Amino acid sequence: MGQIIKAFEQLSPELRNAIRREGIEGWGLRILSERLEALGRVEQVGRYWGCDSPTCQHLSHGYRAPVLAWVPSQGELYYLGWDHEDEKDVRYYLLKADGYIFLRLVVPMHKHHRLYIIEEKEVPLWVARGLKEHAEYMKTYKSDP
Ligand SMILES: [Zn+2]
Repeated sequence: MGQIIKAFEQLSPELRNAIRREGIEGWGLRILSERLEALGRVEQVGRYWGCDSPTCQHLSHGYRAPVLAWVPSQGELYYLGWDHEDEKDVRYYLLKADGYIFLRLVVPMHKHHRLYIIEEKEVPLWVARGLKEHAEYMKTYKSDP
């Protein structure tokens, strides 16, 4: 068992509940792992925004798209933490279904958000070290990211 699963299993039910999420939202959310399509569905949860110029090739930014959410159809989804690297936010999630599945949401500046499955070893170790503190923060402030 990896360190992150171990840290997660040591959380009290109350703290687990504080990081529980119904789904993962993203602007123009792209699902990059086929398996995620089988594990859940994508819903529109927010309005359209972004560049809609017909002459623009949208090279430096995403085209007009709605805010979408990937919502798991089975299991429980938990938000493990976030980091900022190379001008983008990266958020980590855990789906506890038939086993544990780790997810990474990449939130680049001005571009569509991307969600995909990663291996536990690809989740940085600070997630395990800071998980309890993160959950306590979420319990107090209930705020994202
Ligand atoms: Zn454009």
